[in-house]
Amino acid sequence: MKYFNIKDPKEQLSFKEATIQGLGKNKGLFVPEKIEKLPNSFFENITKMSDVDIAFTVMYPFVKGSLNKEELQQILTETFSFSTPVQPLFKNRYILELFHGPTMAFKDVGARFMARCLGKFTQNNKNVTVLVATSGDTGSAVAHGFYNVEGVNVVILFPKGKVSPFQEYQMTSLGKNIHTVEVEGTFDDCQALVKQALHDKELNEKVALSSANSINVARFLPQMLYYFFAYKQLKEKLANKKWMVSVPSGNFGNLTAGLYAQKMGLPIHKFVAANNDNDTFYQYLQTGKYTAKPSVSTYSNAMDVGDPSNFVRIQQLFNNDKNAIKDAILGFPVNNKTVLEKITELYQKTNYIIDPHGAVGLVALEHFLHNDEIGMVLATAHPNKFDTVIRKVIPDFKEPKVDLSKCFKESIKNSYNDYVKKIIR
Ligand SMILES: *Cc1c(COP(=O)(O)O)cnc(C)c1O
Repeated sequence: MKYFNIKDPKEQLSFKEATIQGLGKNKGLFVPEKIEKLPNSFFENITKMSDVDIAFTVMYPFVKGSLNKEELQQILTETFSFSTPVQPLFKNRYILELFHGPTMAFKDVGARFMARCLGKFTQNNKNVTVLVATSGDTGSAVAHGFYNVEGVNVVILFPKGKVSPFQEYQMTSLGKNIHTVEVEGTFDDCQALVKQALHDKELNEKVALSSANSINVARFLPQMLYYFFAYKQLKEKLANKKWMVSVPSGNFGNLTAGLYAQKMGLPIHKFVAANNDNDTFYQYLQTGKYTAKPSVSTYSNAMDVGDPSNFVRIQQLFNNDKNAIKDAILGFPVNNKTVLEKITELYQKTNYIIDPHGAVGLVALEHFLHNDEIGMVLATAHPNKFDTVIRKVIPDFKEPKVDLSKCFKESIKNSYNDYVKKIIR
């Protein structure tokens, strides 16, 4: 399989090259040259297959030529060391829990897969240093995913005082090949430092640099897989019913991966793009115009994105046909107040505690769902990760234990030179 740069389609790379390089010329994202339908027999037999076998069948065409069958099998087995159960909520509503991995957010799937790919690809070569800017979840998933992976060093930048203590603990308590740098600034400052380093010619001659956000094909593509695992669990209930899937969205990597799964034949009828107040995509669906905005802070902070990076992959998938996009994806924005009301209501009705991101997804799903359809919302994080929000409406909700004295972290004052010294250690 070849991957081409959306901005410069003449730039074509293998899966291996695209994973190592991350981003193409002119900051263009890579996409696979084709997404082929899986045979009907696959969907007929899916309930008899193990998750790893399903994952192998779906992923193999995308990595062929870069990973052999044994390598892919091993990577998938290690990636999915945890389950992704679909739980009934009430009536025709279901929730796909993606938070059973080591850092309790769906990003564990992509981070674990990518880390293992990069580990394979750098064998016998010189070390790679992976740079990540994070507002919380990405950093912890990448830290745990890449922990102890040989040949890969990780440098994580997070804004001082702007991640939750639990997230900080998850990122900073590992050590070894995971280096965390606390930046006296905002998430945008962290992101700017990472970008500056990736484009610094002199630095790149000294160290091989890569990045690990959802722009990277090796982080993005495995997110298709749990849509198939969910189908396996819901197949009987779906029978002849329509399946609506709501995705709490920020950079839209998760939702775009779902669209790829649909293109491979997964019978999802409609997607719901659930936004918080950062509603660039919702506005696009309303007006047909895409206008990036500065992000605003909300309770679902992993979705506080004003210019979703995977939007271009959605456009490419639908050949820039706005009507086709509107037909496939419904959109709905949900504010903080409604999120708290939904967390409360669901808890009172079912005892289920949903995190603020999942709550955005549930509100948006219910806005569109009919009684004769099956609705599924992706629970992208465990409520423990956002316990301070939950406690606003469920005061008894316990604080997770963290010991920040066990941290390995260094601080910089937003200075590029200090930061570069940490990269070249
Ligand atoms: C990253 C994240 C999201 C947003 O996912 P995208 O793929 O960027 O749209 C949603 N919820 C949680 C908990 C996250 O960590």
